[in-house]
Formats: sequence, structure tokens, C-alpha cells
Amino acid sequence: MKKIAILGSTGSIGTQTLEVVRSNADFEVLGIAAGSNIALLEEQIREFHPRKAAVWSEEKAKELRLSVADMDTEVLSGMEGLIEIAAMEETQILVTAIVGMIGIRPTIEAIKAGKDIALANKETLVTAGHLIMPLAAEKGIHILPVDSEHSAIFQSLQGNDRKTVKKILLTASGGPFRGKKQEELLEIRVEDALKHPNWTMGAKITIDSSTMVNKGLEVIEAKWLFDVEVDDVQVVVQPQSIIHSMVEYVDGAIIAQLGTPDMKLPIQYALCYPERRHLPGERIDFWKIGKLDFEKPDMDTFYGLKLAYEAGRAGGTLPTVFNAANELAVSMFLKREAKYLEIAEIIEDCMSAHKMIKEPTLEEILETEAATYERINSRR
Ligand code: NDP
Repeated sequence: MKKIAILGSTGSIGTQTLEVVRSNADFEVLGIAAGSNIALLEEQIREFHPRKAAVWSEEKAKELRLSVADMDTEVLSGMEGLIEIAAMEETQILVTAIVGMIGIRPTIEAIKAGKDIALANKETLVTAGHLIMPLAAEKGIHILPVDSEHSAIFQSLQGNDRKTVKKILLTASGGPFRGKKQEELLEIRVEDALKHPNWTMGAKITIDSSTMVNKGLEVIEAKWLFDVEVDDVQVVVQPQSIIHSMVEYVDGAIIAQLGTPDMKLPIQYALCYPERRHLPGERIDFWKIGKLDFEKPDMDTFYGLKLAYEAGRAGGTLPTVFNAANELAVSMFLKREAKYLEIAEIIEDCMSAHKMIKEPTLEEILETEAATYERINSRR
């Protein structure tokens, strides 16, 4: 039996992880955690019988305890609850499918407890990669990428000497506003930005994809996962989202992973690694596709991507500022408290005001996050 726990079980990645669990008889879910969707959490508890479940607020936890009083599942709450689920004694692998920097502490505690990490929560690696990667090496655990691009890179690296990698070609769909200029984005509404052309995902990452900040986060994520410089990661727009990413080697060979846009593939690959298993679903038919297109990203219009390269190059606390400013700006946009183009403006403002700390501790990362929020809130 493969014993797993999932942080963010009610979200887009979390529910797809549970779909993968349903079709693999040798997986067992021991722990699940979510923010506030206790109705779905209850359904999941009844179907998967986890030993522990966690909700963010104690109030919601109380409600859930009552509604699953007939089950053996212990219901926890708050950061302690997340950490307890992350570090459960018998789990082998933790799926981090929670959204945002809130995932840092549970991920660190899971690694300390010797769990492999199937990592979807890129914000954790972007802000604390310098703490997480050495800790993972020290503990001898695997950080297995769930992000489709990073899974593609990981798959394209199999069987090859890492020293022979020349660069990483990170593909991007370009999002719903590909080809548009700044003046055409002035009046973008939440509904417009939530329409991704190829993928169905949670709200935050869908907005991030439209601004290309998601691609920026992925560039920094790739730096940590594959031990490369951000300038060795080249973003290539591939609008059909068929090529999930590629690796170029010193001899000029390029190895890519292709597939239909289905997150269950990278999720299952991470959970089963190094084994490859059958996955039902649509297959690529090249005769139908006909052609694949490639473009250079427009970093003047979508300058969040340019800011990510700057943050990734500088390192230290700057990626935390980049990420935290984006998290708050996106939530303001989703609540219609900020305009679409203000997202990148807010990130740029916070980055230019920040005094960078080179090798921040976890506390300094969390302080930087709080200071970034404070700056944004004080200027509203
Ligand atoms: P969703 O918004 O769909 O889901 C987020 C999950 O996190 C939900 O289960 C939510 O619970 C939970 N959550 C939010 N806040 C808390 C909290 N305070 N405590 C506990 N749980 C919390 O996000 P996605 O699944 O789209 O994305 C998750 C992560 O995976 C992100 O980092 C994203 O960048 C990454 N990712 C996602 C991809 C995708 O295809 N969706 C692709 C690649 C990466 P609740 O439902 O109760 O609010």
C-alpha cells in the first residue's frame, strides 16, 4: 500500500489526486486538509476514511466534527492541524496541493519527518527553496514535481546525466490574453481572466496564468527543483499546451514530454515514480493536431514574468516579495478591489521598495511576507 496525505484535498489538484487514488487500488489516503469547504471534506472523509482531517478555522472544524461524529476520523484545525497531517507517522508521501505560502511550514515539517513530497504548491519552493532543497537532500527524500511543466522536465531528465543539461525550455500557453497589448488589458474583468484556454484550475493560478506571473513562479520553481540558474530557463510560448516542457542537452538534443492537458498524468507520475502506470483518458492524435506553434513571450506587456526573472536572479527575500505581493494583489483583483494591470504594478512597487536579505531564515521569510502585505494595505 502507498500511504498518502493531501493538503488542499478539496481544490483542483486535490480532487484530481483523489481521482488518481480511486483508479489505483494500492493507494491509501491517511490524511486530508482543506481551508473551509467542509461539505466536500465530509464527502471525502466518508469515501476515503482518512485517519485525520484538518480545516483551517476551529469553528469549521467543530462543525465538521459533529457531522462526521459517526466516523473514526480525527478532525484538527489551524496550522497545527496542517502540520500534523503533513507529518503523520505512517504516510510515505505528502501531496502539497494547498495554495500560497501557507504551505511552507507544513512542507518543511513533512520533510523533517522523512516524507516524500509531491509538490504542486509552487509558492513554497519559490519563497523557501534555499531552505527546502538542502533539507530534502539531508533527509534523503524526493521532491516530485506535480506542476505539469516541471513534471515534463523531470520526465525529460530521466536516464541522462544532469551535468549534460544545457538549458530548460519551459513552455507556456500564453494564457487568454496572448497577443494583446497593455492598452487592451485596461478593462479586463475577473470573468475574462478566469477563462484559461487549455486548463481548468483553481482561481489564483488561473489569474497567475493570464498575467504570466505563474510562468515567472515556475521559472523560480525550476531553478530550485533542477539546480539551474533562472537564465538557463527559457520560456517558450506553445499555445496548444501539447508540449509540456523540454530539456536541451549539450549535444543539441532536445527531449520533451508531450500529452493532452490532463493534470492526472503528472499527479500519478509523482505518486508512482519511478513507475509509469496506465492512465485512462484522451491520447494525442498528431494527424488531428496538424501543427504546433511556438512564440517568444511578450515580457513588456506581461512584465510580471520579467519581474520574476529579476527576483529569481537576486534571490534572498526578493522572490518572497514577488510572490507575496502577487498573492495579495490577485486576491484584491478577485474581490474587485484592484484592476487587472495593477497586479504587476503592485509587485513592481513592493520589489523596488524592498531591502533584500540574502539567506533568509523561515522567520525572515514570513516577516517579509507580512511586511509586503502591510505595504500594500497601507497604500490602499
Ligand atoms: P485551488 O484553489 O483549487 O485549491 C486550493 C486548496 O487549498 C483547496 O483545497 C483549499 O481548501 C485549500 N486551502 C486554501 N487555504 C487553506 C488553508 N488556510 N488551510 C488549508 N487548506 C487551504 O488551487 P489549485 O488546486 O489550483 O492549486 C493548488 C496549488 O497547486 C497552487 O500552488 C497552484 O499554483 C498549484 N498548481 C495547480 C495546478 C492546477 O492545475 N490547478 C497546476 C500546477 C500547480 P478550500 O477548498 O476549503 O478553500
